[in-house]
Amino acid sequence: MPAKTVNDIVALCKRRGFIFTGSEIYGGLGGAYDYGPYGVELMKNIRNAWWNAMIYSRDDIEGLDAALISNRLLWKYSGHEAGFSDPLVECKKCGARMRQDKMKDQTKCDNCGSTEITEPRAYQLMMGLSIGATADGAINAYLRPETATTTYTNFKNVLDAKPHKLPFGIAQIGKAFRNEISPRGFVFRMREFEQAEMQYFVNPADDEKFHEMWMAERMAWWVNALGIPAEKLRFMPHEKLAHYAKAAVDIEYQFPDGFDEVEGIHNRQDFDMGSHTKGQKDFKINANVLENKDSTTNLSYSDPQSGQNFLPYVIETAMGVNRAMLAVMIEAYEEEDLGDGKTRTVLKLKPQLAPVKAAVIPLARNVPELLNISNDIVAKLRKMAIGRIELENSGNIGKNYRRHDEIGTPVCITVDHQTMEDGTVTLRHRDTMEQERIAIDAVPTRILEIVNR
Ligand code: ATP
Repeated sequence: MPAKTVNDIVALCKRRGFIFTGSEIYGGLGGAYDYGPYGVELMKNIRNAWWNAMIYSRDDIEGLDAALISNRLLWKYSGHEAGFSDPLVECKKCGARMRQDKMKDQTKCDNCGSTEITEPRAYQLMMGLSIGATADGAINAYLRPETATTTYTNFKNVLDAKPHKLPFGIAQIGKAFRNEISPRGFVFRMREFEQAEMQYFVNPADDEKFHEMWMAERMAWWVNALGIPAEKLRFMPHEKLAHYAKAAVDIEYQFPDGFDEVEGIHNRQDFDMGSHTKGQKDFKINANVLENKDSTTNLSYSDPQSGQNFLPYVIETAMGVNRAMLAVMIEAYEEEDLGDGKTRTVLKLKPQLAPVKAAVIPLARNVPELLNISNDIVAKLRKMAIGRIELENSGNIGKNYRRHDEIGTPVCITVDHQTMEDGTVTLRHRDTMEQERIAIDAVPTRILEIVNR
């Protein structure tokens, strides 16, 4: 059974060092979290799974890592400066501020139930910056609220460096910042978070075909790469489309409180390439874009076969990495009844995602012979560069198993007195708790088999 509440995950994250409250020792800061020793590993493994599927397994997508701070003009022409806002309402009685479209009942205050609510006003979500000694406090740059825009502005750079025919994509993983009105749901809605986004540039005539293709690809990834059961995921088309979108569908995961968005797959038509291009008048742009007198680059594509020059359409896949990690942890979490009033908490993560790949445990503490053999095994496994390998030298095997169950280590390798006699060790499997006795020489191959599952 997966976690019944997000609070189960919050407690595990703190206890075992996945996620801590940001600025904790000074009382915290809403919507900011710090990732601890095992959280960074799990995030890295999710990122790698995405990069592996989106870049390494294909010929048609390139990687990019653009700056987090960018010129104000990017966000003017992307439409964010004027339009990236949420409707903010305030309770006249208790002063609570809320995002109107996320209220339980829009006529009543979420906090005190009063019906005296102000009219909504647009609340800007971007975090403005004043960069450089001459700025004197005026906003001249923004922290990016998504990775997509810096992908569009690098379209020509990437294409010039690595020629591609349409369709082709550019992918980025990185931080995004939004001044959310009410951060909530632990890492579900934060003010600083991480996105894994891919922009696929297509011939306008092919947009619907590729939108459908990416919906199918991304759904399959959630199931196969992250191990989320298909029945816990669904597609949800947007009821109200953003002004630039021709179609938009979310992938939703069934969190303990109900289905909610984890990824969006959007047909953004020619809005982005049309907005940011130089020489807009040379093209017939379908989307409604601002007149652009500042761009220095033409973002069109010339088809080598037809000789046509046009602005590509964009199909975007936009995933939140932190939300993916939360879904993965909820799904992997189990409290098992072991009988006799004993229980164990175990994270049944896919081994490829596990923060620690294997733990090597000498049965007794500080016995030089056991420790030497354990250190040798650790060194061999570390040479394989498969991820984190831990040595546990506390001598408390029960406690070690419990800890590694809770952080999702797929296998523990125990070195005992028999090891010194016959050169075998015990592998203890996380999910079944079954034990297997194998020769030390066979350990690397066996571990490789286990962690690649
Ligand atoms: P929402 O409707 O939840 O505000 P959105 O539709 O604005 O999200 P997108 O702009 O499409 O989200 O961003 C793509 C993905 O980034 C989302 O599916 C989500 O996984 C993630 N994401 C967006 N905002 C946040 C946030 N504040 N904290 C954590 N992840 C987020």
